[in-house]
Amino acid sequence: MMFVTKKMIEIRNLLQQVGQSTSVTLPSIVVIGSQSSGKSSVLEAIVGHEFLPKGTNMVTRRPIELTLVNDPNARADYALFPDISSERITNFSSIQKTLMELNQAVPDSECVSDDPIHLTIHSPRVPDLTLTDLPGYIQVAGENQPRELKRKISELCDKYIRGPNIILAISAADVDLANSTALQASRRVDPRGERTIGVITKMDLVDPEKGAAILTDKQYPLRLGYVGVISKLPAQTGLFKRDSGNLLSVISRNEKAFFSAHPSEFGPDTGVNIGTITLRKKLMQVLERQMSSKLQVTSQDIRRELEETTYQFKIQYSEQPMTAEAYLAGSLDDFKHLFRKFTSGFQRPQMQDLLKNALDQRMLDQLAARYWNKPMGDLSFVPPEDPHNIADLPKADLPSTDLPRDHPNPPYWHKQLDLAASELTHSGVGRLATTVIASAIQSDVDKLINKSTFAKHPSARQVIAEAASTVLADRAYTTIDGIETSLKPYRFDVDIQDHEWTQGRDHVSGVLKTELEHCQTAMKKLEEVFGDKKRLREVMTFIDRVRKRDIVVGRESETAGAGGFSGELLARGREAVFLRDRAEIIKMRMLAVKSRQCKTKENKYYCPEVFLDAVATKLSAVAILFLNVEMVNDFYTRFPREVEAKLGEHMLDGGLQKFVEGDANIRRHLDLIKKKELLELVLAKIESLNSLEGHEKGDMGGR
Ligand code: GDP
Repeated sequence: MMFVTKKMIEIRNLLQQVGQSTSVTLPSIVVIGSQSSGKSSVLEAIVGHEFLPKGTNMVTRRPIELTLVNDPNARADYALFPDISSERITNFSSIQKTLMELNQAVPDSECVSDDPIHLTIHSPRVPDLTLTDLPGYIQVAGENQPRELKRKISELCDKYIRGPNIILAISAADVDLANSTALQASRRVDPRGERTIGVITKMDLVDPEKGAAILTDKQYPLRLGYVGVISKLPAQTGLFKRDSGNLLSVISRNEKAFFSAHPSEFGPDTGVNIGTITLRKKLMQVLERQMSSKLQVTSQDIRRELEETTYQFKIQYSEQPMTAEAYLAGSLDDFKHLFRKFTSGFQRPQMQDLLKNALDQRMLDQLAARYWNKPMGDLSFVPPEDPHNIADLPKADLPSTDLPRDHPNPPYWHKQLDLAASELTHSGVGRLATTVIASAIQSDVDKLINKSTFAKHPSARQVIAEAASTVLADRAYTTIDGIETSLKPYRFDVDIQDHEWTQGRDHVSGVLKTELEHCQTAMKKLEEVFGDKKRLREVMTFIDRVRKRDIVVGRESETAGAGGFSGELLARGREAVFLRDRAEIIKMRMLAVKSRQCKTKENKYYCPEVFLDAVATKLSAVAILFLNVEMVNDFYTRFPREVEAKLGEHMLDGGLQKFVEGDANIRRHLDLIKKKELLELVLAKIESLNSLEGHEKGDMGGR
């Protein structure tokens, strides 16, 4: 019973899970040989299946670390590629295909890769063994092969044939041993031939005497000896079915037939080692011995590495435990906490301010269209004989007490104000409110993500952002409709209370001030772009004169220019005139709003700014009242749950692993914990193995 090997293979698999970061290596059997020496055939005979890619152009480009697991309970032989998936493969020709693809994935520029392919084969018929199949040495690089291929293969093999590995050096009987690349390589690293097993293939291709002479070679003596094999399937294989797993029995039957036909060369008394079954046994014994002899050293290595890992865990992470699940749960809790804080700061007053700002813009549009519409500097513009000019409203440059009482056309201004108010109430406040608040929430959610650990995880980020928009969109239509319905009564008449008027008057002064500043900034920018201020004044004066009909210019001159100014200059000039006039009007209206006349709501027709501001405030209050109940409160309860559910789905099928890998710090933390846990397990296993071995040796010594 190859007990140590079995246990050591388990340990080896655990160490493989630690990955690159461990320096502990356990002995394996590495298989080297020239191309066509029969290396693949020998390996397949040992395994009992054809599973290696073949073909004249096939060059193995990556080492294959093959682990054979004796599994008495396996109903059918199966293989696993542990690095790729946990799927059991029972069809061995599909392994051939996968290996081929993995080989071909190594780019030509790289020639060969030292990143091994891990393959495990479970069967009741295989012994516990680890074998590493290396790319075959090539003598002369083929036409389509990269020039450095030969050198790179040789360097790769050199890495693997170092101690404590056992070298399985394959040479064909029909090639002079002196020319065997495998033996030449092994001699370089194992000059005394202590850890090399020589395998002579193709024994059927040479005379029995010559074959027997090779096996007892004295020129290149090996402590572990030579074994002669015939790994080629005979032409007539009778009932043998490929892929049936009994390849070895067919091959050994064939070998027996050949060797027993030459008893004087290969008979039991000759002392030569022959046959694949013998080879297999030898491999098991040698590996078991090597593993046992390395037990002490290996357990010391592991203890040292565990101490180092524990120390790192202490100084880097203060021994803080961590799991991927805990990281996710912690991130989610933090995010929910941030969200709760946000909700308490984003309530009705804040929402109302946002909506009011958006409505202020609409109010300014109404004011501009109905009240501030001084004719602009269109060169062909002929001012209409319109008595209802802005000049009819209270003038700012007059003392505020001196407002015209007998208005020239009061019904006109009444109508203007009614229309402006009605347009404001009809302007789709439901949609505006819903859009403004939803997009504010969405962008705040983005900011929260940025502050949270999810900022490092683009895909989780997207899941959260989508959860927000889904929950918001769910209620959007009913919210819009609901707001519009609740605003219906205001479409015909808005009753403003005294305190609302006072509030509106205060507020609109600020709105006008900001608007004035915008005009002034735009004007400054224009002057900067223009450069020549004097010239700008000239073109503005010209436009003013055209407007006052001091001079008349034909329409055709507009594009070409007029008054000695180019078309472009005139366009800039018109813009400047517009900004200047707008600023003047606003200044005038700011004074008017402050005047006594605008103190009371009875004068609303003279103070449209105040009235419209009060209306906009009222609309936003009603809209937000409804929106808060219908959409925002619902969002505040549902969103955290939706995030949790959607992230949960996202973390399935390896999502959690990817999520954790997105955070380099956490990944390192988790890797270190995993390494520590695995090393602890490995150490426990190896120590129990050590004490068992010790007992056995003790028992034997006592006998
Ligand atoms: P590799 O390139 O070293 O892996 O060699 P293969 O295992 O692919 O074998 C190369 C060729 O030698 C194939 O055509 C095999 O069928 C043949 N071959 C392998 N072993 C033997 C053997 O023991 N006897 C004979 N006659 N041919 C063999």
